[in-house]
Amino acid sequence: MKNFTSIYSKREGLKPPELYEYFLDNFWFKAAGMENEIINEPLRGRHKADVVIIGGGFTGLSSAYNIRRRFPHKKIILLEGACCGYGASGRNGGFCVATSLIDRDLEDPDARKENLNVSLHGIEQIKECIDVHGLDCDFKENGMLDVAMNDVQVKIMQEECRVLREWGLDVETLYGKELEKEIKSPRLVAGLKTKQGAILNPAKLARGMKKIVEDMGVEIRERSVVTRVVPGKIHHVDTELGEAKTPAIVIATNAYSHRLGFFQNRLYPIYTYVIATEPLTSAQWDAIGWQNRQGLSDYRTLFNYMIPSIDGRIIIGGSDVKYYHNDGIAPGNNKTVSREILKDLVRWFPCLEGIKVDHAWGGPTATTLDQTPSIDKETL
Ligand SMILES: Cc1cc2nc3c(=O)[nH]c(=O)nc-3n(C[C@H](O)[C@H](O)[C@H](O)COP(=O)(O)OP(=O)(O)OC[C@H]3O[C@@H](n4cnc5c(N)ncnc54)[C@H](O)[C@@H]3O)c2cc1C
Repeated sequence: MKNFTSIYSKREGLKPPELYEYFLDNFWFKAAGMENEIINEPLRGRHKADVVIIGGGFTGLSSAYNIRRRFPHKKIILLEGACCGYGASGRNGGFCVATSLIDRDLEDPDARKENLNVSLHGIEQIKECIDVHGLDCDFKENGMLDVAMNDVQVKIMQEECRVLREWGLDVETLYGKELEKEIKSPRLVAGLKTKQGAILNPAKLARGMKKIVEDMGVEIRERSVVTRVVPGKIHHVDTELGEAKTPAIVIATNAYSHRLGFFQNRLYPIYTYVIATEPLTSAQWDAIGWQNRQGLSDYRTLFNYMIPSIDGRIIIGGSDVKYYHNDGIAPGNNKTVSREILKDLVRWFPCLEGIKVDHAWGGPTATTLDQTPSIDKETL
């Protein structure tokens, strides 16, 4: 058994697999104590399994969890190139929300409602998993506040509020003093407050799910980069040190999928970045309000958001979303974007001028060409 630090440190002279960054300054990893986590042994030798799952993020882990619950006697092997939670799942903004309550890119209102319902069901599933297994991931169900900065955004917000009420959701629009009770920023003119939604430490969620799934009998192999999949009636999965044969396979490799030749014309990797400030003083917290500590997102794009951490920092993501040439996989930090995020934070809260950034990181996540979920009907 090796732990995280020894695998990815210069001391041992080992390099991480080509797929990954050498060093990732991720606050969530640190707060989850990943430096001391045990990383499982790689797959070695020849194996057979009923199901092989490639990727140990939320998609792979929840596939393992649900397949195992339904088929308790099937042999399931999950292969993860680095360690569970090393991809977007352990790096993200910490929002557990029905992302963009209304999918504005979808024209069909029924499809929009269906999207929302699937998303809300996802939140319920996460809550259930946390409750049933006592998973500690700093989950706080504080709701969500979408904020508008100008008249155009206010119109979008009001329309969103009307539709969500029609669909039976408990939402409220806030202006002036009412908005100031939630958050004090000269930049904001209105807000849409929603009860649904939580914040959490995503790395703790992923590492916690790893343990749950292992306890259920799923074999998890970390440091096992899959180098090749030969599809067939029996699929052949190669890793650097081993191989597995299986009739059923789950590709849960998100932004890295094209490297294995999957979904090349359907998905592309985009990079989004996050910073964690130093902990705020209580005077700073008083100055900015935010007493209910809910997730905040604005209407500029999907990717401008912030949450408070349980130790009093602001975790904020946004500014530029990056696409690198030829679906490139880039390092997990972009200093130019980090600086822009910090500037953005000070525009939100001028009283935080001079605040220090303790951690800055980011990562790739896959998106579909039209930014909506996609299921190939032929495979249904
Ligand atoms: C910076 C950032 C902020 C975000 N903020 C939010 C947010 O606040 N809320 C939200 O809901 N979503 C957010 N997202 C998106 C969310 O994190 C992802 O949609 C989600 O984590 C995807 O999970 P996944 O399991 O599909 O992919 P991943 O977590 O990326 O997992 C894929 C796994 O596959 C492994 N892998 C890849 N190739 C191979 C291979 N060849 N062999 C073996 N293993 C391999 C990787 O190591 C990785 O662990 C954010 C994403 C980023 C990057």
